[in-house]
Amino acid sequence: MIFSPPLPHDVSPRILPVFTPFAGCPNRCLYCAQQAQTGHAEQGLGIVFEQFERDLEKRFAGGGSPVELGFYGGTFTALPEQWIERFLLLAARYREQGMVCGVRCSTRPDAVSLPLLERLKALGLDTVELGIQTFDDAVLSKSLRGYAKDVAIEGCRIVQDAGMTLGIQLLPGLPGHTTAMFRDDVALACSLEPAFMRLYPCVVFKGTGLARLYERGEYTPWSLGAAVDACAEALRQTWKHGIRVIRMGIAHDVGVTDQILAGPMHPAFGSMVRGRALVPYILRRVDALKRAPKLLMAPQSVRGEFWGYKGECKSLYAASGLTTDKVQWWNAPFFCLL
Ligand code: SF4
Repeated sequence: MIFSPPLPHDVSPRILPVFTPFAGCPNRCLYCAQQAQTGHAEQGLGIVFEQFERDLEKRFAGGGSPVELGFYGGTFTALPEQWIERFLLLAARYREQGMVCGVRCSTRPDAVSLPLLERLKALGLDTVELGIQTFDDAVLSKSLRGYAKDVAIEGCRIVQDAGMTLGIQLLPGLPGHTTAMFRDDVALACSLEPAFMRLYPCVVFKGTGLARLYERGEYTPWSLGAAVDACAEALRQTWKHGIRVIRMGIAHDVGVTDQILAGPMHPAFGSMVRGRALVPYILRRVDALKRAPKLLMAPQSVRGEFWGYKGECKSLYAASGLTTDKVQWWNAPFFCLL
């Protein structure tokens, strides 16, 4: 039996991030700690712009391969429009020279409108990542997001109607959020047909409103195991829809983890999720054989996560007769199960 690996190839170019912490945000969401998450303090847009100019000059002074630029850490589309224009026009200058191959930003679903995005598209913005977090109204309200499900859905449609690439970010595990709600969020997100998604299970950053709830015993984050299992199930859904998940879990960058009080985090979070998600994908084929498998030739691209983190999935495969001696790696881009 021949079958493909489930993971759509990640063909994204390298993203050069430009952080504008909290810029354009109408309020502080309950869980948000941009300074800790991005490693950048809140600062004036003029300072960010000058740094952006210097970074671009430095990066391309000696050549260097083209990059995609990503404006993160705030609500980019809610910045004063003259600042959005300055950032995008500078990016466009480098794009004309072939050094920038795309421009993306993250923003809130209530900070987009069709006329605005059409203007920004004309200025070179290609991709909008919407921080949806969840579609559940009660959870959105508790998390101080300030919009409801219908606005989140409409925001996604506006990005697509503007002819831009849509990315959806979900944040499972906010106060009141259950794994069943997350399942619904993922199903709805997939139905909106984004080009890609990011899954960031909720962790408690020091100094946030969420940290205060946690310290008072009024919030319990998801366990690591629950978050991995929920994201594995989510990942399987996205595979079915051909949607790439380009990030799972908080980046374990220097200084970030010291700022986290609690919550599901692990340096190998994404790999753990992919390993667990792969098990039912493979075993469905093994079960279809209706006999013990003799050999599975597997592509090198899944080798790193096939057996799960520290081999945690070996016993699950072995229970269906797929022991380690029956799996071999090859350079073909597909599986062959005998
Ligand atoms: S979560 Fe997004 S919108 Fe909310 S405060 Fe943070 S950057 Fe701003």
